[in-house]
Amino acid sequence: MKKPRPIEERLIENSEYVPGTGCLIWKGRVDKNGYPEIKVDGRRVSVRPLAYAVFRGEPLHSDLVSRPQIQMTCGDRCCIHPDHMTVKSDEDRLLTQIKQEVYQWAQIKADANSRFRFMTRPEYIEAEARKQLEVRIAASQPPSPEIQDILDRLRRRSVGLQQGHDGTEPLGDPRPLPR
Ligand SMILES: [Zn+2]
Repeated sequence: MKKPRPIEERLIENSEYVPGTGCLIWKGRVDKNGYPEIKVDGRRVSVRPLAYAVFRGEPLHSDLVSRPQIQMTCGDRCCIHPDHMTVKSDEDRLLTQIKQEVYQWAQIKADANSRFRFMTRPEYIEAEARKQLEVRIAASQPPSPEIQDILDRLRRRSVGLQQGHDGTEPLGDPRPLPR
């Protein structure tokens, strides 16, 4: 049986160096969204996380690998040059998502009343999204044990009041606190 060629070789063979931009443009197969894809052991794999790992000698964090969470500084979706890659953190992704939410909400407000048109400006969206990001990050941090104890007692009491007993029975999953 033929020994499979090393991944580095296959990556280099399937791409073309563009001297002007310094990009390494993928010439091999692409997935349905147009992102470079390669078959490894019969499985389709995203090329960029692989190129990142192979050329930099360190893999991406696992929850970043399944989807292309690499942003290309050159903006070319077929470039696989590791120097053109920046890895988007969970926080970056959350910020992007919040910005979309803020924008949609601002659009609705602005459509309803033109006085709110300022809310659709990029500076406003950016500032508002960053504020909300901070709130969400703060909300996702576990509270200190003292605070947790108070919250637990309040929760037990409110459940007890609802059920008409002293609330000493074991509780189900605690409900997330409102944000
Ligand atoms: Zn590039």
